[in-house]
Amino acid sequence: MSHAFDAIREEEERLLCRSYSRYPLAIARGEGSRLWDVDGKEYTDLLAGIAVVGLGHCNPEVNAALEAQARKLWHVSNLFYQQEQLDLAQRLLSTTHHSKAFFCNSGAEANEACIKLARRYMRKVQKRDAYEIITLEGCFHGRTLGALAATGRESLSDGFTPLPEGFRQVPPRDLDALVAAMGPATAAVLVECVQGEGGVVPLPHDYLRGVEALCRKRGALFLCDEVQCGMGRTGKFWAFQHAGLTPDAISVAKSLANGLPMGAMLATDEMARGFEAGSHATTFGGGALTSAVATKVVDIMLRDGLADRAGRIGQALMARLGDLQQRLPEKIREVRGVGLMIGVELVEDGKPVWEELLRRGFICNLSHGKTLRLLPALTIEEVQLDSFAITLEDILSGR
Ligand code: PLP
Repeated sequence: MSHAFDAIREEEERLLCRSYSRYPLAIARGEGSRLWDVDGKEYTDLLAGIAVVGLGHCNPEVNAALEAQARKLWHVSNLFYQQEQLDLAQRLLSTTHHSKAFFCNSGAEANEACIKLARRYMRKVQKRDAYEIITLEGCFHGRTLGALAATGRESLSDGFTPLPEGFRQVPPRDLDALVAAMGPATAAVLVECVQGEGGVVPLPHDYLRGVEALCRKRGALFLCDEVQCGMGRTGKFWAFQHAGLTPDAISVAKSLANGLPMGAMLATDEMARGFEAGSHATTFGGGALTSAVATKVVDIMLRDGLADRAGRIGQALMARLGDLQQRLPEKIREVRGVGLMIGVELVEDGKPVWEELLRRGFICNLSHGKTLRLLPALTIEEVQLDSFAITLEDILSGR
């Protein structure tokens, strides 16, 4: 490790709460899908800030929108009407069947908004005491207490109990288990169509349609967490659209403002009746600066057909990695994913492969110790994906 890196690491030890286990890397600069560390070494970024920097680092058009809005207005609070929020709502809602937006600041908050709206809709509109939220094993919905309860993973809630009540979990791909879990207290079922933190696990379309049909039959709401799999990443603007679903609400965040903290809940008119003035709020939600930036992000994604592109180049990379799996089945167990949300599950411990990729200048994530997770910018160049595939083959073949 270099002197510059060691100095940063030591300073962090002194100054920050210890809540992250970091990669052995301090990043100084980014451009598109390239990053440079504090020693000037260049990397190809296949992680994009964990699916956040969808348009690449320091995208010039997004930078221009940010600079223009920074000179005009940053924040006035939700006490005021703001055209910037409406512009963003109009753009986002044009991509889906939903008709109302609520803006917040993160994925966890977007899920909290979905959960709160589901409960309040049941109590105030349906006049039913239905409050229970059912989620799927392997999901991840965030780290606030409500989102942690929804995530239902003991390792993440260790030391933080008690968590809020009213959450229940069932195994995915098992409609009978869901039927058994649903009852008069069920307010909603919340799913990620492609489980991200769970190791890039796409759920079968038939299963997802079955979940939605059950919700309709039992009078429960159907909610999709699009925080990681949304915003064009899987080849459609929203992952639920692959299975022809019509969720009552979705949660959005990550790449919404290309790196500025922003989240949103998009809901149907009917479900949105559950909120009234004062029911739910957040100081920063939908601020003028983040809204203007996010509007530009959505505009660029739509103008440049980036969802289609993600589907196309993601499929090509998956085919290439699938071919590698066929040739090296003793090294790669499975390649799975949709669009530019790809997991390469290795047969053995993935840490040495992940470390060697890093040493050779490729940044990806290692999930559950064995799965290399790729979540690159939707604008990544195909040649960058090619060189990743070549390098991975070299490493796995001992070259
Ligand atoms: N939902 C999903 C599917 C996620 O992947 C994440 C974060 O990784 C979250 C929610 C939480 O988002 P945030 O970290 O912005 O609160």
